[in-house]
Amino acid sequence: MGALMTASMPIPGHFDPVPVPRPQVAALDGAPVDLVGLSKDEIRTALADAGLDERQAKLRAKQIWHQIYHRGATSFDAMSDIAKPQRAWFAERFVVGRPDVVLEQVSTDGTRKWLLKTPDGHDFEMVFIPDADRGTLCVSSQIGCTLNCAFCFTGTMRLVRNLTAGEIVGQVMLARDSLGEWPSQPEGRMLSNIVMMGMGEPLYNFDNVRDALRIVMDGDGLGLSRRRITLSTSGVVPMMVRAGEEIGVNLAVSLHAVTKEVRDEIVPLNRKYGIEELLEACAAYPGANNARRITFEYVMLKDRNDSDDDARELVRLLRKYKLPAKVNLIPFNPWPGTAYECSDEDRVRRFSDIVFEAGISAPIRRPRGRDIMAACGQLKSAAEKKSRAELDRISAEKQRELEAVAEPGLG
Ligand code: SAH
Ligand code: SF4
Repeated sequence: MGALMTASMPIPGHFDPVPVPRPQVAALDGAPVDLVGLSKDEIRTALADAGLDERQAKLRAKQIWHQIYHRGATSFDAMSDIAKPQRAWFAERFVVGRPDVVLEQVSTDGTRKWLLKTPDGHDFEMVFIPDADRGTLCVSSQIGCTLNCAFCFTGTMRLVRNLTAGEIVGQVMLARDSLGEWPSQPEGRMLSNIVMMGMGEPLYNFDNVRDALRIVMDGDGLGLSRRRITLSTSGVVPMMVRAGEEIGVNLAVSLHAVTKEVRDEIVPLNRKYGIEELLEACAAYPGANNARRITFEYVMLKDRNDSDDDARELVRLLRKYKLPAKVNLIPFNPWPGTAYECSDEDRVRRFSDIVFEAGISAPIRRPRGRDIMAACGQLKSAAEKKSRAELDRISAEKQRELEAVAEPGLG
Protein backbone atom coordinates (compact mmCIF):
# COMPACT_ATOMS: atom_id res chain seq x y z
CA MET A 1 0.00 0.00 0.00
CA GLY A 2 1.13 3.54 -0.59
CA ALA A 3 1.84 5.99 2.15
CA LEU A 4 -1.41 6.63 3.93
CA MET A 5 -2.26 8.81 6.83
CA THR A 6 -4.99 7.71 9.17
CA ALA A 7 -6.78 10.34 11.19
CA SER A 8 -7.04 9.34 14.82
CA MET A 9 -10.34 7.70 15.56
CA PRO A 10 -12.22 7.58 18.82
CA ILE A 11 -12.13 4.10 20.33
CA PRO A 12 -15.67 3.27 21.34
CA GLY A 13 -16.57 1.68 24.64
CA HIS A 14 -17.60 -1.86 25.44
CA PHE A 15 -19.82 -2.03 22.40
CA ASP A 16 -20.49 1.04 20.37
CA PRO A 17 -23.93 2.46 19.75
CA VAL A 18 -23.36 3.53 16.16
CA PRO A 19 -21.18 2.31 13.33
CA VAL A 20 -17.63 3.53 13.68
CA PRO A 21 -16.99 6.40 11.24
CA ARG A 22 -14.66 5.56 8.38
CA PRO A 23 -11.09 6.66 8.95
CA GLN A 24 -10.00 9.57 6.88
CA VAL A 25 -7.23 8.44 4.67
CA ALA A 26 -5.24 10.93 2.68
CA ALA A 27 -1.97 10.74 0.87
CA LEU A 28 0.93 12.20 2.77
CA ASP A 29 2.28 15.32 1.11
CA GLY A 30 3.93 14.39 -2.13
CA ALA A 31 3.64 10.62 -1.58
CA PRO A 32 2.11 8.63 -4.43
CA VAL A 33 -1.58 7.81 -4.06
CA ASP A 34 -2.57 4.14 -3.85
CA LEU A 35 -5.24 3.42 -6.44
CA VAL A 36 -6.38 0.12 -4.89
CA GLY A 37 -9.67 0.64 -3.12
CA LEU A 38 -10.76 3.66 -5.13
CA SER A 39 -13.94 3.38 -7.22
CA LYS A 40 -13.75 3.95 -10.99
CA ASP A 41 -15.05 7.49 -10.49
CA GLU A 42 -12.53 8.15 -7.74
CA ILE A 43 -9.68 6.99 -9.98
CA ARG A 44 -10.92 9.28 -12.75
CA THR A 45 -11.04 12.20 -10.33
CA ALA A 46 -7.57 11.39 -9.01
CA LEU A 47 -6.19 11.40 -12.56
CA ALA A 48 -7.96 14.66 -13.37
CA ASP A 49 -6.65 16.23 -10.15
CA ALA A 50 -3.15 15.19 -11.20
CA GLY A 51 -3.56 17.14 -14.44
CA LEU A 52 -5.15 14.94 -17.13
CA ASP A 53 -7.95 16.52 -19.13
CA GLU A 54 -11.41 15.04 -18.68
CA ARG A 55 -11.37 12.83 -21.77
CA GLN A 56 -7.91 11.42 -21.02
CA ALA A 57 -8.78 10.89 -17.36
CA LYS A 58 -11.85 8.89 -18.31
CA LEU A 59 -10.05 6.74 -20.85
CA ARG A 60 -7.02 6.07 -18.65
CA ALA A 61 -9.17 5.35 -15.59
CA LYS A 62 -10.96 2.63 -17.53
CA GLN A 63 -7.66 1.11 -18.74
CA ILE A 64 -6.01 1.30 -15.35
CA TRP A 65 -9.04 -0.28 -13.67
CA HIS A 66 -8.88 -3.20 -16.08
CA GLN A 67 -5.14 -3.56 -15.56
CA ILE A 68 -5.40 -3.52 -11.77
CA TYR A 69 -8.44 -5.71 -11.27
CA HIS A 70 -8.51 -7.93 -14.32
CA ARG A 71 -4.84 -8.42 -15.06
CA GLY A 72 -3.47 -7.96 -11.55
CA ALA A 73 -0.85 -5.39 -12.60
CA THR A 74 1.10 -3.96 -9.68
CA SER A 75 3.18 -1.49 -11.67
CA PHE A 76 2.46 0.97 -14.47
CA ASP A 77 5.33 -0.57 -16.41
CA ALA A 78 3.22 -3.68 -16.88
CA MET A 79 0.38 -1.67 -18.43
CA SER A 80 1.23 -2.14 -22.08
CA ASP A 81 -1.83 -0.29 -23.37
CA ILE A 82 -0.43 2.95 -21.93
CA ALA A 83 2.35 4.76 -23.81
CA LYS A 84 5.77 4.46 -22.11
CA PRO A 85 6.34 8.14 -21.25
CA GLN A 86 2.89 8.32 -19.72
CA ARG A 87 3.55 5.18 -17.63
CA ALA A 88 6.45 7.01 -15.99
CA TRP A 89 4.22 10.02 -15.36
CA PHE A 90 1.70 7.75 -13.59
CA ALA A 91 4.40 5.97 -11.60
CA GLU A 92 5.57 9.28 -10.13
CA ARG A 93 2.12 10.04 -8.83
CA PHE A 94 0.38 6.74 -8.12
CA VAL A 95 1.02 3.22 -6.87
CA VAL A 96 -0.89 -0.04 -7.03
CA GLY A 97 -0.31 -1.41 -3.54
CA ARG A 98 -0.67 -4.62 -1.62
CA PRO A 99 -0.70 -5.17 2.14
CA ASP A 100 2.75 -6.13 3.44
CA VAL A 101 3.07 -9.79 4.32
CA VAL A 102 4.71 -10.37 7.70
CA LEU A 103 4.21 -14.14 7.85
CA GLU A 104 2.51 -16.82 5.80
CA GLN A 105 1.62 -20.14 7.40
CA VAL A 106 0.20 -23.32 5.91
CA SER A 107 -1.87 -25.78 7.93
CA THR A 108 -1.57 -29.54 7.57
CA ASP A 109 -5.08 -29.41 6.02
CA GLY A 110 -4.00 -26.90 3.35
CA THR A 111 -5.52 -23.83 5.03
CA ARG A 112 -3.29 -20.77 4.65
CA LYS A 113 -3.05 -17.85 7.03
CA TRP A 114 -1.34 -14.57 6.28
CA LEU A 115 -0.27 -12.09 8.89
CA LEU A 116 -0.42 -8.71 7.14
CA LYS A 117 0.71 -5.22 8.08
CA THR A 118 -0.80 -1.84 7.28
CA PRO A 119 1.42 1.11 6.27
CA ASP A 120 0.89 2.61 9.74
CA GLY A 121 2.25 -0.55 11.33
CA HIS A 122 -0.79 -2.56 12.48
CA ASP A 123 -1.14 -6.29 11.99
CA PHE A 124 -4.20 -8.13 10.75
CA GLU A 125 -4.91 -11.55 9.31
CA MET A 126 -6.57 -13.27 6.38
CA VAL A 127 -7.18 -16.97 5.77
CA PHE A 128 -7.65 -19.08 2.63
CA ILE A 129 -9.53 -22.36 2.96
CA PRO A 130 -9.24 -24.69 -0.05
CA ASP A 131 -11.87 -27.37 -0.63
CA ALA A 132 -12.45 -29.87 -3.40
CA ASP A 133 -15.06 -27.77 -5.17
CA ARG A 134 -14.23 -24.26 -3.99
CA GLY A 135 -11.73 -22.02 -2.26
CA THR A 136 -12.88 -19.54 0.34
CA LEU A 137 -11.03 -16.43 1.39
CA CYS A 138 -11.85 -15.24 4.90
CA VAL A 139 -11.37 -11.47 4.87
CA SER A 140 -10.89 -9.10 7.82
CA SER A 141 -12.79 -5.82 8.09
CA GLN A 142 -11.24 -4.30 11.21
CA ILE A 143 -8.04 -4.53 13.23
CA GLY A 144 -9.46 -5.92 16.44
CA CYS A 145 -13.13 -5.65 17.33
CA THR A 146 -15.26 -3.56 19.69
CA LEU A 147 -17.61 -6.38 20.44
CA ASN A 148 -15.97 -8.67 23.03
CA CYS A 149 -17.91 -11.85 22.24
CA ALA A 150 -16.94 -14.14 25.09
CA PHE A 151 -15.82 -17.09 22.95
CA CYS A 152 -13.87 -15.13 20.32
CA PHE A 153 -10.13 -14.52 20.41
CA THR A 154 -10.40 -11.39 18.25
CA GLY A 155 -12.86 -10.08 20.84
CA THR A 156 -10.08 -9.99 23.42
CA MET A 157 -8.29 -7.35 21.32
CA ARG A 158 -9.34 -3.74 21.47
CA LEU A 159 -10.36 -2.10 18.24
CA VAL A 160 -7.25 -0.55 16.76
CA ARG A 161 -8.94 0.86 13.68
CA ASN A 162 -11.14 0.11 10.70
CA LEU A 163 -9.45 -1.27 7.61
CA THR A 164 -9.74 1.00 4.58
CA ALA A 165 -11.53 -0.15 1.42
CA GLY A 166 -8.07 -0.56 -0.15
CA GLU A 167 -6.88 -2.77 2.69
CA ILE A 168 -10.00 -4.92 2.37
CA VAL A 169 -9.75 -5.33 -1.44
CA GLY A 170 -5.99 -5.65 -0.99
CA GLN A 171 -6.52 -8.96 0.83
CA VAL A 172 -8.35 -10.38 -2.20
CA MET A 173 -5.65 -9.05 -4.55
CA LEU A 174 -2.89 -10.58 -2.47
CA ALA A 175 -4.64 -13.96 -2.36
CA ARG A 176 -5.01 -13.84 -6.15
CA ASP A 177 -1.27 -13.04 -6.46
CA SER A 178 -0.39 -15.91 -4.21
CA LEU A 179 -2.64 -18.38 -6.03
CA GLY A 180 -1.38 -17.21 -9.42
CA GLU A 181 -4.91 -16.39 -10.56
CA TRP A 182 -4.37 -13.48 -12.93
CA PRO A 183 -5.87 -12.51 -15.26
CA SER A 184 -9.35 -12.94 -13.78
CA GLN A 185 -11.10 -16.01 -15.12
CA PRO A 186 -14.88 -16.35 -15.12
CA GLU A 187 -14.74 -20.08 -14.28
CA GLY A 188 -12.57 -22.60 -12.45
CA ARG A 189 -10.95 -20.26 -9.95
CA MET A 190 -9.31 -21.53 -6.83
CA LEU A 191 -10.43 -18.40 -5.03
CA SER A 192 -14.15 -18.79 -5.74
CA ASN A 193 -15.82 -17.50 -2.56
CA ILE A 194 -15.34 -14.73 -0.05
CA VAL A 195 -16.57 -14.58 3.51
CA MET A 196 -16.36 -11.41 5.60
CA MET A 197 -15.60 -13.51 8.67
CA GLY A 198 -12.06 -12.51 9.57
CA MET A 199 -11.20 -10.02 12.27
CA GLY A 200 -13.81 -7.43 13.10
CA GLU A 201 -17.48 -6.64 12.69
CA PRO A 202 -18.08 -5.69 9.04
CA LEU A 203 -21.24 -3.70 9.75
CA TYR A 204 -19.27 -1.42 12.07
CA ASN A 205 -17.12 -0.51 9.08
CA PHE A 206 -19.98 -0.32 6.65
CA ASP A 207 -18.80 2.23 4.07
CA ASN A 208 -15.40 0.67 3.56
CA VAL A 209 -16.75 -2.88 3.43
CA ARG A 210 -19.43 -1.81 0.92
CA ASP A 211 -16.95 0.05 -1.28
CA ALA A 212 -14.50 -2.85 -1.18
CA LEU A 213 -17.12 -5.46 -2.01
CA ARG A 214 -18.45 -3.37 -4.88
CA ILE A 215 -14.96 -3.44 -6.37
CA VAL A 216 -14.72 -7.19 -5.79
CA MET A 217 -18.07 -7.69 -7.58
CA ASP A 218 -17.31 -5.40 -10.54
CA GLY A 219 -17.67 -7.39 -13.76
CA ASP A 220 -14.74 -5.64 -15.45
CA GLY A 221 -12.36 -6.69 -12.71
CA LEU A 222 -12.34 -9.32 -10.01
CA GLY A 223 -15.87 -10.22 -11.05
CA LEU A 224 -16.99 -12.31 -8.08
CA SER A 225 -20.74 -12.80 -8.01
CA ARG A 226 -22.59 -11.50 -4.97
CA ARG A 227 -23.91 -15.04 -4.54
CA ARG A 228 -20.38 -16.17 -3.76
CA ILE A 229 -19.83 -13.56 -1.07
CA THR A 230 -21.12 -13.83 2.49
CA LEU A 231 -21.09 -11.11 5.10
CA SER A 232 -21.25 -12.26 8.70
CA THR A 233 -22.57 -10.00 11.42
CA SER A 234 -22.94 -10.47 15.14
CA GLY A 235 -26.27 -8.65 14.80
CA VAL A 236 -25.86 -4.93 14.11
CA VAL A 237 -29.59 -4.57 13.47
CA PRO A 238 -29.74 -0.94 12.23
CA MET A 239 -27.23 -1.66 9.45
CA MET A 240 -28.75 -4.87 8.11
CA VAL A 241 -31.25 -3.35 5.67
CA ARG A 242 -28.53 -1.15 4.21
CA ALA A 243 -26.26 -4.17 3.86
CA GLY A 244 -28.95 -5.90 1.82
CA GLU A 245 -29.75 -2.87 -0.29
CA GLU A 246 -26.30 -1.42 -0.85
CA ILE A 247 -24.17 -4.57 -0.97
CA GLY A 248 -26.64 -7.37 -1.62
CA VAL A 249 -24.41 -10.29 -0.67
CA ASN A 250 -25.45 -13.38 1.31
CA LEU A 251 -26.04 -12.78 4.98
CA ALA A 252 -24.74 -14.85 7.87
CA VAL A 253 -25.82 -14.02 11.40
CA SER A 254 -23.88 -15.05 14.47
CA LEU A 255 -26.81 -16.15 16.60
CA HIS A 256 -25.05 -18.61 18.93
CA ALA A 257 -27.78 -18.69 21.59
CA VAL A 258 -31.57 -18.72 21.83
CA THR A 259 -32.18 -17.23 25.27
CA LYS A 260 -31.56 -13.68 26.39
CA GLU A 261 -29.54 -14.83 29.37
CA VAL A 262 -27.03 -16.85 27.37
CA ARG A 263 -26.80 -14.55 24.34
CA ASP A 264 -26.31 -11.53 26.63
CA GLU A 265 -23.34 -13.35 28.11
CA ILE A 266 -21.67 -14.65 24.98
CA VAL A 267 -22.60 -11.96 22.41
CA PRO A 268 -22.79 -8.77 24.52
CA LEU A 269 -24.27 -6.82 21.60
CA ASN A 270 -27.45 -8.75 22.42
CA ARG A 271 -28.02 -6.37 25.33
CA LYS A 272 -28.54 -3.66 22.76
CA TYR A 273 -30.24 -5.57 19.93
CA GLY A 274 -32.09 -8.58 21.33
CA ILE A 275 -32.85 -11.90 19.65
CA GLU A 276 -36.38 -11.02 18.55
CA GLU A 277 -35.30 -7.68 17.07
CA LEU A 278 -32.43 -9.42 15.29
CA LEU A 279 -34.68 -12.09 13.79
CA GLU A 280 -37.15 -9.44 12.63
CA ALA A 281 -34.30 -7.69 10.83
CA CYS A 282 -33.37 -11.03 9.24
CA ALA A 283 -36.95 -11.51 8.04
CA ALA A 284 -36.76 -8.05 6.45
CA TYR A 285 -33.33 -8.64 4.84
CA PRO A 286 -33.65 -7.67 1.18
CA GLY A 287 -33.09 -10.55 -1.18
CA ALA A 288 -33.44 -13.38 1.32
CA ASN A 289 -35.65 -16.16 -0.02
CA ASN A 290 -35.66 -19.93 -0.22
CA ALA A 291 -33.07 -19.91 -2.94
CA ARG A 292 -30.87 -17.52 -0.97
CA ARG A 293 -31.20 -18.46 2.63
CA ILE A 294 -29.74 -16.69 5.62
CA THR A 295 -27.07 -18.65 7.45
CA PHE A 296 -27.34 -18.74 11.22
CA GLU A 297 -24.02 -19.47 12.83
CA TYR A 298 -24.11 -21.33 16.09
CA VAL A 299 -20.92 -22.02 18.00
CA MET A 300 -21.20 -25.20 20.07
CA LEU A 301 -20.19 -24.46 23.66
CA LYS A 302 -20.26 -27.29 26.14
CA ASP A 303 -23.13 -26.94 28.66
CA ARG A 304 -23.82 -23.35 27.63
CA ASN A 305 -25.97 -23.44 24.49
CA ASP A 306 -25.98 -27.04 23.29
CA SER A 307 -28.99 -28.80 24.93
CA ASP A 308 -31.92 -30.46 23.16
CA ASP A 309 -34.10 -27.63 24.46
CA ASP A 310 -31.79 -25.09 22.85
CA ALA A 311 -32.08 -26.91 19.53
CA ARG A 312 -35.87 -27.02 19.77
CA GLU A 313 -36.04 -23.34 20.71
CA LEU A 314 -33.85 -22.51 17.72
CA VAL A 315 -36.30 -24.30 15.44
CA ARG A 316 -39.26 -22.52 17.04
CA LEU A 317 -37.67 -19.10 16.57
CA LEU A 318 -36.69 -19.70 12.94
CA ARG A 319 -40.25 -20.90 12.22
CA LYS A 320 -41.88 -18.05 14.11
CA TYR A 321 -40.16 -15.51 11.88
CA LYS A 322 -40.63 -17.68 8.76
CA LEU A 323 -36.96 -17.37 8.00
CA PRO A 324 -35.46 -18.98 4.92
CA ALA A 325 -32.66 -20.35 7.05
CA LYS A 326 -29.81 -22.76 7.23
CA VAL A 327 -27.89 -23.34 10.43
CA ASN A 328 -24.13 -23.70 10.53
CA LEU A 329 -22.97 -25.52 13.63
CA ILE A 330 -19.42 -24.46 14.45
CA PRO A 331 -17.49 -26.58 16.92
CA PHE A 332 -15.90 -24.09 19.31
CA ASN A 333 -12.27 -23.44 18.44
CA PRO A 334 -10.26 -23.01 21.62
CA TRP A 335 -7.62 -20.34 22.19
CA PRO A 336 -5.17 -19.61 25.02
CA GLY A 337 -6.99 -18.47 28.13
CA THR A 338 -10.57 -19.20 27.10
CA ALA A 339 -13.11 -20.31 29.70
CA TYR A 340 -15.19 -22.32 27.20
CA GLU A 341 -15.00 -25.84 25.92
CA CYS A 342 -16.30 -27.37 22.73
CA SER A 343 -19.41 -29.56 23.03
CA ASP A 344 -18.84 -33.31 22.70
CA GLU A 345 -19.18 -34.76 19.24
CA ASP A 346 -22.33 -36.71 20.13
CA ARG A 347 -23.94 -33.60 21.52
CA VAL A 348 -23.20 -31.62 18.35
CA ARG A 349 -24.61 -34.45 16.23
CA ARG A 350 -27.77 -34.68 18.35
CA PHE A 351 -28.27 -30.91 18.11
CA SER A 352 -27.84 -31.08 14.35
CA ASP A 353 -30.34 -33.96 14.09
CA ILE A 354 -33.06 -32.08 15.99
CA VAL A 355 -32.75 -29.05 13.74
CA PHE A 356 -32.48 -31.21 10.64
CA GLU A 357 -35.56 -33.27 11.53
CA ALA A 358 -37.52 -30.01 11.66
CA GLY A 359 -36.65 -29.52 7.99
CA ILE A 360 -33.81 -27.03 8.43
CA SER A 361 -30.38 -27.88 7.12
CA ALA A 362 -27.84 -27.89 9.97
CA PRO A 363 -24.44 -29.09 8.83
CA ILE A 364 -21.58 -29.33 11.30
CA ARG A 365 -18.69 -27.24 10.10
CA ARG A 366 -15.38 -29.05 10.00
CA PRO A 367 -12.79 -26.90 11.78
CA ARG A 368 -10.00 -25.83 9.43
CA GLY A 369 -6.51 -24.60 10.15
CA ARG A 370 -6.66 -25.09 13.92
CA ASP A 371 -2.94 -26.02 14.07
CA ILE A 372 -1.98 -22.55 12.84
CA MET A 373 -4.73 -20.75 14.82
CA ALA A 374 -6.54 -19.90 11.57
CA ALA A 375 -9.94 -21.34 12.48
CA CYS A 376 -13.04 -19.23 13.23
CA GLY A 377 -12.51 -17.01 16.21
CA GLN A 378 -8.81 -17.78 16.57
CA LEU A 379 -7.53 -14.71 14.76
CA LYS A 380 -5.65 -12.21 16.80
CA SER A 381 -2.60 -10.35 15.65
CA ALA A 382 0.17 -11.53 17.89
CA ALA A 383 3.04 -10.39 15.74
CA GLU A 384 4.08 -7.60 18.06
CA LYS A 385 4.98 -10.21 20.62
CA LYS A 386 7.28 -12.04 18.20
CA SER A 387 10.64 -10.68 17.17
CA ARG A 388 11.61 -10.46 13.51
CA ALA A 389 14.11 -13.28 14.01
CA GLU A 390 11.39 -15.45 15.48
CA LEU A 391 9.06 -14.72 12.55
CA ASP A 392 11.81 -15.61 10.09
CA ARG A 393 12.48 -18.83 11.96
CA ILE A 394 8.78 -19.83 11.83
CA SER A 395 8.67 -19.05 8.11
CA ALA A 396 11.79 -21.12 7.43
CA GLU A 397 10.51 -24.01 9.54
CA LYS A 398 7.18 -24.02 7.70
CA GLN A 399 8.99 -23.94 4.39
CA ARG A 400 11.09 -26.96 5.37
CA GLU A 401 7.99 -28.84 6.50
CA LEU A 402 6.29 -28.08 3.20
CA GLU A 403 9.31 -29.23 1.22
CA ALA A 404 9.43 -32.40 3.28
CA VAL A 405 5.77 -33.08 2.45
CA ALA A 406 6.29 -32.28 -1.23
CA GLU A 407 9.34 -34.53 -1.55
CA PRO A 408 8.92 -37.35 0.92
CA GLY A 409 11.78 -39.34 -0.58
CA LEU A 410 14.39 -36.70 0.08
CA GLY A 411 16.17 -35.68 3.26
N1 SAH B 1 -17.75 -10.23 13.58
C1 SAH B 1 -18.49 -11.03 12.67
C2 SAH B 1 -17.63 -11.78 11.70
C3 SAH B 1 -16.33 -12.37 12.19
S1 SAH B 1 -16.43 -13.75 13.28
C4 SAH B 1 -19.39 -11.98 13.43
O1 SAH B 1 -19.24 -12.10 14.64
O2 SAH B 1 -20.26 -12.56 12.80
C5 SAH B 1 -16.79 -15.13 12.20
C6 SAH B 1 -17.56 -16.26 12.89
O3 SAH B 1 -16.70 -17.01 13.78
C7 SAH B 1 -18.70 -15.76 13.76
O4 SAH B 1 -19.86 -16.53 13.60
C8 SAH B 1 -18.12 -15.94 15.13
O5 SAH B 1 -19.10 -15.94 16.09
C9 SAH B 1 -17.38 -17.23 14.99
N2 SAH B 1 -16.44 -17.47 16.08
C10 SAH B 1 -15.79 -16.56 16.82
N3 SAH B 1 -14.99 -17.16 17.74
C11 SAH B 1 -15.12 -18.49 17.56
C12 SAH B 1 -14.50 -19.63 18.16
N4 SAH B 1 -13.59 -19.51 19.12
N5 SAH B 1 -14.86 -20.85 17.71
C13 SAH B 1 -15.75 -20.98 16.70
N6 SAH B 1 -16.35 -19.94 16.07
C14 SAH B 1 -16.04 -18.70 16.50
FE1 SF4 C 1 -16.08 -9.32 17.02
FE2 SF4 C 1 -17.31 -11.26 15.56
FE3 SF4 C 1 -15.39 -11.86 17.39
FE4 SF4 C 1 -17.78 -10.99 18.20
S1 SF4 C 1 -17.36 -12.92 17.08
S2 SF4 C 1 -15.78 -10.32 19.00
S3 SF4 C 1 -18.28 -9.52 16.60
S4 SF4 C 1 -15.11 -10.68 15.51
